[in-house]
Amino acid sequence: MRKVVILLGPPGSGKGSQAFMIREAFGLAHISTGDLLREEIRQGNALGLEAKGYMDKGTFPPDELIIKVLMHGLEKPECAPGFILDGVPRTINQAEILDKNFGENDKRIVINLKLPTKVIIDRITGRRVCSQCGAPYHVEFSPSKSKGVCDLCGGRLIQRPDDTEEVAKTRFEFFENQTAPIIDFYRKQELVTDIDCDGLSKDEVFKLIELALTS
Ligand code: AMP
Repeated sequence: MRKVVILLGPPGSGKGSQAFMIREAFGLAHISTGDLLREEIRQGNALGLEAKGYMDKGTFPPDELIIKVLMHGLEKPECAPGFILDGVPRTINQAEILDKNFGENDKRIVINLKLPTKVIIDRITGRRVCSQCGAPYHVEFSPSKSKGVCDLCGGRLIQRPDDTEEVAKTRFEFFENQTAPIIDFYRKQELVTDIDCDGLSKDEVFKLIELALTS
């Protein structure tokens, strides 16, 4: 059986941090469409440049573009034992297309990370990522040992351009309108484990995810 972990939750709910921990513990590949798009931008590819306009505003690039980037990402050999989908699907259309790509050998587990709206904007605006390895931090809740420097690789920590307060608000609206309905889409298939993250540490959330992945 190939494990397919689908991480759902609003921006800032900790999907990236948890994906990092799941990858280490379960040996699954981490597929983040946001990271794949940022890599396309970094390389100056046409697809990346098209996506950038949407991402800078906090809106979504067209589904066809996302699916193309995703399918390319899933071809990586490290996906063979299974993978974690972080930040995808984000629309019902993407979820339906993805469903068609899974077979009987795929065990899908959907983790829904829940967080109250008031906490989300604080989480996003305080977020920092390593410019080299992508490791996630938060200036207040999960700071690096040395300010501005990644604990893992010594890379420089940066704020993503779409983590400003204004863009974060648009991203949250897009989540509510386009992405939240996906939870019901998977709930109907009885695949969802809900995790209430408010007041829990990263490790406490991870323990609950671990339970869902091993039971
Ligand atoms: P993330 O790193 O997951 O927060 O994604 C950053 C941005 O990339 C989002 O705000 C969207 O503009 C874009 N993006 C990433 N994944 C998707 C997706 N599955 N569907 C639509 N847009 C996406």
